[in-house]
Amino acid sequence: MVRGNLPRRRPPLQISGIEWYDFHIMQTGQKISPMMQQYQQAKAAGGDALLLFRMGDFYELFYDDAKIAADKLGLTLTSRDKGENAVPMAGFPHHQLDNYLANLIQQGFRVAVCEQVEDAAAAKGLVRRELTQVVSPGTVTDLELLDPKESNFLTAICAEPPKKSDRGKPTAVGLSWIDLSTGAFYAAVATEAELADFLARLAPSEILLAEDDALKLPAAGDRTVITRRPVWTFAKKHSLDSLTRQFRVSSLEGFGFSETEGPAIRAAGAILEYVRENQSGSLEFIDRLQPLVRDAVMQIDQATWRSLEITRTIRHHERNGSLFDVIDRTLTAMGSRLLASWMRQPLTCPQSIARRQDAIAELIEQPPLRDSFRQYLKQVTDTQRLLARVANARATPRDLAGIVLTLATLPGLKSKLAGCRSELLCQLESDLDPCEDLHQLLHAALESECPITAKEGGFIRDAYNSQLDGYRELARGGKQWIAEYQAKVSNETGIPSLKVGYNKVFGYYIEVTHVHRDKVPDSFIRKQTLKNAERYITPELKEYEDQVVSAEQNAIDLEYELFCQIREQVRERMSELKRNSQVIAQLDVLCGLAELAVIHHYTRPSIVDAAVISIHAGRHPVLDITEPLGAFVPNDTKLGEENGVIHLITGPNMAGKSTYIRQVALIVLLSHIGSFVPAESATIGVTDRLFARVGASDELSRGQSTFMVEMTETARILNTATPRSLVILDEIGRGTSTYDGVSLAWAIVEYLHENIGARTMFATHYHELTKLEETFPAVRNYNVTVKEWNDEIVFLHKIAPGGADRSYGIHVAQLAGIPAWVNRRAEKILKQLERNGTEASDVDQAATRAGSEIQLTLFGATTHPLIEKIKRLDTDHVTPMSALAMIQQWKSELDNDETANNVTSDEMTDERR
Ligand code: ADP
Ligand code: MG
Repeated sequence: MVRGNLPRRRPPLQISGIEWYDFHIMQTGQKISPMMQQYQQAKAAGGDALLLFRMGDFYELFYDDAKIAADKLGLTLTSRDKGENAVPMAGFPHHQLDNYLANLIQQGFRVAVCEQVEDAAAAKGLVRRELTQVVSPGTVTDLELLDPKESNFLTAICAEPPKKSDRGKPTAVGLSWIDLSTGAFYAAVATEAELADFLARLAPSEILLAEDDALKLPAAGDRTVITRRPVWTFAKKHSLDSLTRQFRVSSLEGFGFSETEGPAIRAAGAILEYVRENQSGSLEFIDRLQPLVRDAVMQIDQATWRSLEITRTIRHHERNGSLFDVIDRTLTAMGSRLLASWMRQPLTCPQSIARRQDAIAELIEQPPLRDSFRQYLKQVTDTQRLLARVANARATPRDLAGIVLTLATLPGLKSKLAGCRSELLCQLESDLDPCEDLHQLLHAALESECPITAKEGGFIRDAYNSQLDGYRELARGGKQWIAEYQAKVSNETGIPSLKVGYNKVFGYYIEVTHVHRDKVPDSFIRKQTLKNAERYITPELKEYEDQVVSAEQNAIDLEYELFCQIREQVRERMSELKRNSQVIAQLDVLCGLAELAVIHHYTRPSIVDAAVISIHAGRHPVLDITEPLGAFVPNDTKLGEENGVIHLITGPNMAGKSTYIRQVALIVLLSHIGSFVPAESATIGVTDRLFARVGASDELSRGQSTFMVEMTETARILNTATPRSLVILDEIGRGTSTYDGVSLAWAIVEYLHENIGARTMFATHYHELTKLEETFPAVRNYNVTVKEWNDEIVFLHKIAPGGADRSYGIHVAQLAGIPAWVNRRAEKILKQLERNGTEASDVDQAATRAGSEIQLTLFGATTHPLIEKIKRLDTDHVTPMSALAMIQQWKSELDNDETANNVTSDEMTDERR
């Protein structure tokens, strides 16, 4: 997270109306030029943003801004003025603005741009300058600066400690988030503990916090920038007023917000205030605030979100290799973003899930239908984001041309949807408004290829506006007029070779070769002399030239005027167009999921209202695709009710335990977003919360006090899981010493069994835990099978009932290329340890209750041959003499063993040779 990256806005140092910069200059005794005064005003207006100050062909940064820019952009740090008055300065040529702006935003800065707003040549005295835009990571709407596949969230957070009368109650956290590139705006109240979950799912690019808010923010993302805001922007009354004004409503109840949602409203108001300050155009696009309907969505906390690698991989923090990456078969950016949003909010209502499934099923059953939808979708542009630009008057001709492309697909999409049967697709059909009139208008008005600026013309089609056609005809130089004029003058003067021409520098001219010089009439005015000819202008030609030149300008002005009208017409249809974008996004996600199901042989899970999971031949959605074809071994799962609520999965390292339990969690998640799943068949009980935890040492990359993290995360499961939750625990307890770890793991399973009853899968290489099955009726042992073959082991990746009997760690080490000597030595040590009998009764008394024997040792159990001998001994028929002989025999056997286990350094050197 980028903190303190921005120079924090200094406390407004108002000394009789003089801002900080003036103060600074007063103090340091520096003189201040009128232009620097202008700079300071702009700087103050931009708050804590870096200020790019336009000076001629350059953008310049001064003072601390210059130092930051020099550092972050690699610009050369120079100084304006010399000596005592020197001001640090750095800059770049104006045409590189987009590049540098993008770079700064990506590094988490807020940037203000101050332009020259009048022609420098025409200006009397100092050129007028104005702040034209303030951009921050959360408020960018330029398509080039945004990742098309991801929503860009601006978030505001405020803590609301309990009132005195409610002492002891937890602090409420108000949370609001908006994607300004589309206008989607949400607010919710959460607990402090949930804050991290929200931030993990949203991955906001910018967080607004009140200047005095002491809330401890959890790490949100590498690039999240924190922007401190004046306290009043979070005030409840102010927020409520500004939101109701924005939406033209008298209260927010219509949106589903009640009195108790005060903190949510405060946060939403703070967002609106910030956006108002930063966006120049209208905010009409923000037309509602949506509450988060919690009961309707499966809760996924931060740790689960990370460890299941839902949208990013753990290791490289990349989209590539995540679940999202694998299942995203959408063809539009809007579809991609909606799919991500479905993943953030899996449904828990079986009927709503079935609606999606029905639609996907229909699209699967009708390949031609799906194909034709996808043909249309390929032509669709990012209309949501384009519309946001229309709303705030930033849309360019090219943006409008993009909207035309989408409009062109609507009638086709609508008629195809009309033939569909499933409820959701029918709903989409009725929501879709093809806006044919608007399409016709835009199509008639705009060229198919349009420029990115409306100020230079050249994008309105001929025959759209007759006045424009007239200007253009004139501006194109009316070839005919020229030809007629040339013929006329040639005739009048009797100069046959006389030519009328045009060049950029001199404009129109009449060219006469020197041969005919004396025939030139007095009315010709000399303009330019060439080697063989003379060029002239006449009043008539000059007048024509003026007309042509002004026609060009007139055409450009008129095009701009027409463009604004057209943009306004698009804006008037905003709500239909927004809804259409929603329809397209949904259709795209559904078609994408259907496509996925077909390509990778997914099936429709049956969603039931019971705490069960039954999967036949399930696969891990990611490995299924990344492993070579046919290499992935499918597995069955029967969890919940009579099949046991807690499954303990043991097996050696690398057997596939983690893969297996994640596979189950991912199948459950996919089921809840309405997707089909990688299995031959599946029945999934509605799940209210999904938890996944990974033991500390499996996740070293995070570099925190990992065991502490592991336990904190586990504590949250034990405190919040319900009988309808699914809990995936992977090697929990691994981050501490073996005995600690085993005991903790043991106690956690016991607690889940006795107090929660959530469906749980616990993968562990502590096979000591298999004893739990004997004590707790709802615990079942499973293991990932391996085959021993010629002293080696082969991983079958197949889940089978029963616990694993040993860990095979040494075999794995061998596979990994540990030198043979180390392996042999380890085996000897292992034998020795086994003989010494590391007893599992340490683990827990429960194990003893279950009738555990010494067998349950850390490294797998075998009893020493001597013990066997003693056991078999019939003491009734042993004489004292033979007893003594036996004891001597045993002792010498033991001595021999000892020496066998003491490997000498000679041996070691031998091995190395
Ligand atoms: P464990 O957690 O038991 O140590 P993992 O689940 O990490 O093992 O799996 C180790 C490797 O085995 C994985 O990276 C994967 O390549 C492979 N693997 C796991 N499960 C399967 C499977 N069902 N089919 C094929 N390969 C698998
Ligand atoms: Mg593992």
